[in-house]
Amino acid sequence: MNITVSGTGYVGLVSGVCFAEMGHNVVCVDIDENKMDALSRGISPIYEKDLEDLIQKNISIGRLTFTTNFKQAYGNAEVIFVGVGTPENKDGTADLTNIAVVARQIAESIHHDCLVVVKSTVPVGTADKVEQFINDFLINPVKVEVASNPEFLAQGSAVRDTLQADRIIIGAESHWAKEKLLDIYEPFQLPILVVNRRSAEMIKYASNDFLALKISYMNDIANLCELVDADIQDVAKGMGYDKRIGSNFLNAGIGYGGSCFPKDTKALSSLAKQHGYQLKTVNAAIETNEDQRLKLYNKASKRLITFNNLKVAILGVTFKPGTDDLREAPSLLNIPLLLEHGANLYIYDPVGQKNFSSHYAEGNYAKGSITYCASTEEALVDAHVTFIFTEWEDIKKIKCEDYAQFMKTPLVFDGRNIYSPQDMALAGVEYHSIGRAVEM
Ligand code: NAD
Repeated sequence: MNITVSGTGYVGLVSGVCFAEMGHNVVCVDIDENKMDALSRGISPIYEKDLEDLIQKNISIGRLTFTTNFKQAYGNAEVIFVGVGTPENKDGTADLTNIAVVARQIAESIHHDCLVVVKSTVPVGTADKVEQFINDFLINPVKVEVASNPEFLAQGSAVRDTLQADRIIIGAESHWAKEKLLDIYEPFQLPILVVNRRSAEMIKYASNDFLALKISYMNDIANLCELVDADIQDVAKGMGYDKRIGSNFLNAGIGYGGSCFPKDTKALSSLAKQHGYQLKTVNAAIETNEDQRLKLYNKASKRLITFNNLKVAILGVTFKPGTDDLREAPSLLNIPLLLEHGANLYIYDPVGQKNFSSHYAEGNYAKGSITYCASTEEALVDAHVTFIFTEWEDIKKIKCEDYAQFMKTPLVFDGRNIYSPQDMALAGVEYHSIGRAVEM
């Protein structure tokens, strides 16, 4: 099938590459010329395991091309997948500007019948509107239908999640649209559920918000565990045996981040509000997460008189391991606070440093300073305090004794509960984590 994918971010690029890997002819189109230039040379703009190899392989066998020429890319497509960003408006609703731009471009470019598939996360009812919009602006007399095919990949495991997805959701209003999508996904050999467009759009938000809720619930329980001397990790383990609950997504920490959960919870809450309904559970997840993201900073502020002139090691800045994405990462909230209070920050992240330095360059600030480190050891040597924001393998490999050996004062605030408090205490490290007592 001749497929065009619009938008080459995490979703569009990974989907396009995986469609090519499954034997389809894929053209990826984006407005970002530098990105398309790099991609045409086989260089991935994002870090995802196996992605660059698959890009290079599929370019070389002639199944994958990249362009900014949308007229050509849309004009020749049988199916167009739309994977452009749908960020958050100030009021929490989803900003559909990119979707509208693409819809207009499609309407003005296509010259034969075409199925447009919305892969971006969009509020319920958007596919209906996109179909109407394209038909309103069509230049040539062709048939256009819109389907919904939400994406469930997680950053850090995006290629695997696409090739071995738990399920494919197809939201289609006609036999024609349904059959086209079933054909495209046939080589993937994955479970497929076909529903109507609105249900497909709702499945995406309901799934993401349920996961966000699970995280906030565990963080809420973790905060109570601290007050009553229970251990959240033992509690989670005990809960996870229950098949009705499951053991995934029970890790307490410093809250969810990334480009999806924060905006998708707010978007669903806003959608409910627009319909006169209060989505109380999701609102509670949002509120809990806001507080949780500052949990470590608040703990450290209580423990110390000041951060001024302290060497503070920062281990991990991305919102989770396996990605260089910083969107809504807790580090982006905590690091400016530490700087404002005069800390000299020594930052290590195996992948995210380059992106982080475009927000916070190395050097001196009005108060405090930032230095990027080539190793965990460089960050830790002579540090007064360590904050762990991301559980990268490199960071998990640091031994408890290393903190005692390298740091000036072995005081660690861990937002990812990497270590056992008992092991840290035995190594002589004062260790503060989430939902667990400090062992002395
Ligand atoms: P992204 O910001 O990484 O990428 C979006 C891309 O769209 C960019 O490369 C941008 O240049 C391009 N773009 C913008 N306007 C365009 C236009 N008119 N024509 C062509 N390209 C254009 O976004 P993302 O993280 O891939 O997310 C895309 C959508 O998928 C969002 O709705 C998001 O909620 C959803 N989603 C994301 C994830 C994830 O983990 N990132 C997972 C599932 C669903």
